[in-house]
Amino acid sequence: MFKDVSDLASCEVLIVDDSELMRRLLVGCLQEICNVKTVESAEQAIIYCQEEQPDLVLMDWVLEGMSGLEACKKMQVTPKLSEIPIVFVTSNANEESQLQCWEAGAVDFVPKPIVPKTLQNRVKTHLKYKLQADVLRNYSFIDGLTGIYNRRFFDAEVERLLKQHHRADHALSMIMIDIDFFKKYNDYYGHLAGDDVLKQVASKLKEIVRRPLDTVCRYGGEEFVVLLPDTPLQGAKIIAKTLVRAIAGMALEHSQSEHSVVTISAGVASATKTCASVESLIKSSDDMLYYAKGAGRNTYKCTD
Ligand code: GH3
Ligand code: MG
Ligand code: MG
Repeated sequence: MFKDVSDLASCEVLIVDDSELMRRLLVGCLQEICNVKTVESAEQAIIYCQEEQPDLVLMDWVLEGMSGLEACKKMQVTPKLSEIPIVFVTSNANEESQLQCWEAGAVDFVPKPIVPKTLQNRVKTHLKYKLQADVLRNYSFIDGLTGIYNRRFFDAEVERLLKQHHRADHALSMIMIDIDFFKKYNDYYGHLAGDDVLKQVASKLKEIVRRPLDTVCRYGGEEFVVLLPDTPLQGAKIIAKTLVRAIAGMALEHSQSEHSVVTISAGVASATKTCASVESLIKSSDDMLYYAKGAGRNTYKCTD
């Protein structure tokens, strides 16, 4: 899930320069360090960054059309782009320009004419910082025990997906999952064995929920939640069924359960016109989960 912090070769630097000669020179300097892409204008750079998210942008100061400075300011206030560090490459490194460059949110500037060794070392340093920052950003959204997304990530993601649902009428489904008789499991097999079951269940859920935009999060203790964008209720129902079967199919011994193996119960709901807030979506799937528990556990229930 995380890029190796020392693996600069997997990083990508985007060069934004309207001079072909300059682009070639910069590519020549950097291509042995990492992947290098080039565009000719600030407008193209913004489009590229929205699609590809490079790890660093080397921006020419003077560009035709939108200036490098304007592009930098724009990227700073655009959520997906604000985390991409920008380094200016400029021949006017006077005090005023330097101030403008910091104010626009750039992380550095490299004076022209280029000294290859200096450029290479600056780029290496900024890429290392970027990789470390990515790791920290990811860690704060990852559950320490199971390695899947945590509740903090879920809270942010469900909010974002619901906005998308409202804006573009995209379907959004949710599956709330709870391990059955887990207190009895802990009491009988011990807490460490319980932790191990949590890890194995999380890993199985993730293995099954494989579409890139779908996410499995640890919601709390022995509860998980699956977010399925672009998935209507019927599709979510099939996934819930598969998940319930797959966990029982792991055949993890649980002598204290009436099913004699570790099982889960699941509740499925979709965002609709009348169920369109985070609270109501969670409540609906939670109600269904409760219903599944009442129906004997190791099963799922769905609104409708
Ligand atoms: P039900 O079938 O109704 O869901 O019963 P249950 O026993 O699973 O539910 P209950 O809410 O009574 O108990 C949940 C248990 O989950 C209690 C707690 O010991 C256990 N648990 C919560 N978080 C962790 C954890 O991080 N590690 C371990 N080992 N156990 C945990
Ligand atoms: Mg519970
Ligand atoms: Mg439980």
